[in-house]
Amino acid sequence: MSLLVLKFGGTSVADLDRIRRVAAHVKRESDAGNACAVVVSAMAGQTNKLIGWVEEAWGFKPEDEGASDQSSLYDCREYDAVVSSGEQVTSGLLALVLQSMGVSARSWQGWQIPVRTDEAHQKARITGIDVDEIKAAMLGGEVAVCAGFQGIAPNNRIATLGRGGSDTSAVALAAALGADRCDIYTDVDGVYTTDPRMVSKAHRLDRISYEEMLEMASQGAKVLQTRSVEMAMQWGVPVLVRSSFDSPDMPGNADTGEGIGTLVCPEDEIMEQNVVSGIAYARDEAKVTLLKVADKPGVAARVFGPLSDANINVDMIVQNVSEDGRSTDLTFTVQSSDLDRALEVLKSAKDEIDYLDLRGATDIAKVSAIGVGMRSHAGVAAQMFSALAEKGINIEAISTSEIKISVLIDAAYAELAVRTLHSLFGLDGA
Ligand code: ADP
Ligand code: ASP
Ligand code: MG
Repeated sequence: MSLLVLKFGGTSVADLDRIRRVAAHVKRESDAGNACAVVVSAMAGQTNKLIGWVEEAWGFKPEDEGASDQSSLYDCREYDAVVSSGEQVTSGLLALVLQSMGVSARSWQGWQIPVRTDEAHQKARITGIDVDEIKAAMLGGEVAVCAGFQGIAPNNRIATLGRGGSDTSAVALAAALGADRCDIYTDVDGVYTTDPRMVSKAHRLDRISYEEMLEMASQGAKVLQTRSVEMAMQWGVPVLVRSSFDSPDMPGNADTGEGIGTLVCPEDEIMEQNVVSGIAYARDEAKVTLLKVADKPGVAARVFGPLSDANINVDMIVQNVSEDGRSTDLTFTVQSSDLDRALEVLKSAKDEIDYLDLRGATDIAKVSAIGVGMRSHAGVAAQMFSALAEKGINIEAISTSEIKISVLIDAAYAELAVRTLHSLFGLDGA
């Protein structure tokens, strides 16, 4: 008998027919004698709809809809109350369908398990899971159908884990349960060299290391939420990303003889390595520029301190060379969803920071090349910059890690940049 955590994303539970398909698969795993926890997302599109209602109720309109006076600074606790409900619906429905098939099943909301989080509503982090009760139920033969994306904060209110957070619910549960595997069922059959919806020449990787997957996810490949990869790496949870539609072992699917999905695993379990394993892109970042900030010690702390206090993550940072030795321009990126908050925070700290003007922009994209092979290969950055220059793509900011190079560019060139780098590093249709 194995202890399994199976996670089904939004498209896998998009309607009752698909929920029945998922249930048939879960039944097979359960009939085979495995103890199963199933983590579900909300039906595809549901979370967006709920967020739309929150914004409408608050009177906020995004820029592309003609903007309103009302900023996006609504009460995140109420956002969480509304937006977590999508998963409550699918967990109940899947439990019901399983019961209708004669499978013993029970739904579990985040607060019932409980999945404990911190108080950073809207993007809370899991701080612990008490698995005793749920594990006893599973070992007693009951399928535990868990609502993903949610937990309970110390203030006793529901907290959500940030977009894509059901992946993290699943991996965290697998770690806490000591599960043998965590299967992430989604609408692609694994992790690709880049988003297969953007580049048709992208190909599926049989395996990818935790570190590379972490960079891919944090640089925008939304196939797994970043935090879920961090957790899998920390707890050594083997994660298998696979399709809920065409996996050979799904009911109604023939075995194609090929490997299933992509295993996210330690680097030393991967035989062949390219220098670059994948290209990621993110369009959901925004650029903040502070004009004429005093060029003296302590200013960076005065800018980034309040942002961090407000739970706003800053990604790339560029400080221009000071022309007069007294002031400089400071540019950095944040998640677009944090832009209004970031501008608000910086406006209230204007006197302490001391700057001339403040600007925010969302027409940017970040494109990254990722690969553990970069550790032992020089020249990857140079190759990347000249390939982009040849296509006339201007680089606004650069950031690097040991296994990643990211560039910030005009959003209009995102697709061209991704295709160019995918070919440059020999990833096309390999
Ligand atoms: P789910 O609803 O199952 O959680 P998501 O939409 O969150 O699914 O994630 C799956 C999507 O991630 C795919 O449809 C694909 O467009 C996108 N994606 C981005 N980068 C990659 C990549 N490198 N490999 C696979 N999918 C990717
Ligand atoms: N339903 C949530 C979202 O759309 C969580 C998830 O699907 O992982 O972000
Ligand atoms: Mg997802």
